[in-house]
Amino acid sequence: MAFVTRFAPSPTGPLHLGHAYSALLAHDMARAAGGLFLLRMEDTDLERCRPEHDARILDDLRWLGVDWDGLILRQATRLDYYNKRLEALVSKGLLYPCSCTRSDIRSALAAPQEGVAFHIYPGTCRGRAMATRQAGDALRLDLRKALELHPDVQFEENGPRHTGVHLIDSDMARQMIGDVVLSRKGEDIVAYFLAAAIDDADQGVTHVIRGEDLFEFTPVQVILQRLLGLPTPIYHHHRLIRDANGKRLAKRDDARAISKFRAEGATPADVRRMVGLSA
Ligand code: GLU
Repeated sequence: MAFVTRFAPSPTGPLHLGHAYSALLAHDMARAAGGLFLLRMEDTDLERCRPEHDARILDDLRWLGVDWDGLILRQATRLDYYNKRLEALVSKGLLYPCSCTRSDIRSALAAPQEGVAFHIYPGTCRGRAMATRQAGDALRLDLRKALELHPDVQFEENGPRHTGVHLIDSDMARQMIGDVVLSRKGEDIVAYFLAAAIDDADQGVTHVIRGEDLFEFTPVQVILQRLLGLPTPIYHHHRLIRDANGKRLAKRDDARAISKFRAEGATPADVRRMVGLSA
């Protein structure tokens, strides 16, 4: 069976140990399977992404011995294309414009419903027609309608923690995902969920290997794949590399940047050992 995987960093900071683990693991798995390892820069956040981070990430990957197949896909070059793909969801009546600010959402959630995750959009603008869209409005997915079209969505996970087939139960999806933003306010920039779902399909990705912090986003990506008629890859969410206090590494955690280890004289084999991979 073909095996195509990818590493998809966002160039908003330096490559740190957590990313290095993700890249090395996906790379090693692709090479062991005789498959392809692709690279994608998720640089749609035009404010936070920087060319210098992009260049440093590539340099650190090369130094680590991570070699990728084919050309690098840069999402920032595909914004018009993503917006065109979004039209398919508009014509199915699955999107609505939303003008809520963060504080509108917070106050609507002041009396949270039992069992509903705190960050779930309360649906204030649901029911607004697309024709009422104003310049600054975001576009949200009407998840209820999406689940009516595709009630039996599932995906396969073969990572260490959540192994098995996951059926996305409609009630659970409404409580855990809600009406996510697919196009950001005022900028016509599509959200990560949509761009990644489209690109995984366009790049022919059969296996998504990424950190388990992204496991909770998988159902929304699988629902989008159904809505857009795209295949669903097999997922592998790996353990996260934590700091000495057990805290997840963050982008701003420069103390764990690969460049710092390089400057201190570490070898690529040392980095592999630090993240628990054989050198
Ligand atoms: N760009 C995401 C990140 O850097 C990864 C997305 C993915 O692997 O699906 O966290």
